[in-house]
Amino acid sequence: MSAASLQRPAAAPLDTDLAARMILRWFPLPIIRLHTGLSDEAIRELYRQHHDVPPPASALPDVADLLGTTATARQASNFLSHYVRLTQSTAYRRVDVNALIVSHDLHLASRDPHTTEPTTIAAAWVLARELRSRAISFVSCECGRDHVVHKEVAAASSCPHCGASLAKGRSSVHDHTWRDNTAVDRAVRVS
Ligand SMILES: [Zn+2]
Repeated sequence: MSAASLQRPAAAPLDTDLAARMILRWFPLPIIRLHTGLSDEAIRELYRQHHDVPPPASALPDVADLLGTTATARQASNFLSHYVRLTQSTAYRRVDVNALIVSHDLHLASRDPHTTEPTTIAAAWVLARELRSRAISFVSCECGRDHVVHKEVAAASSCPHCGASLAKGRSSVHDHTWRDNTAVDRAVRVS
């Protein structure tokens, strides 16, 4: 990730409470700095206080790895379905860390434990960032469940939930459906 993409608005206030909540969930340091305005030194000190260890590695997962297989796409879709339900239109304006934490709890409680590792908190943040920038869209399937696709990651030819073939014309790509009822400008659709 480039440094420019982690720059923070200059006027944003410092937020130690939010930093503590993020540290309890093991967010990487650059993400905590972005959302709280705290210095790296202050964040490391808070990590020492809460966990008695340094922050985890700062490298963020690659979105291609998060959506590259049926199993990971299913986990990512599960997490984002909770996230968009909580954030609604806010999801397209900013990454909502508090909603992200609650969504991650719901994801851990509702995911299929037999398939693959759950989406990590760092991965969840990357998915929320990609959704905010509208690089991620939702695809409907006849099984009634949506899954997510990314404009720079080759989409699977079948639904990760039920395995049904997603023939062109039978599935639809869209922003999350609640946006149909808002005045927010329509996002660019992925065809
Ligand atoms: Zn399906």
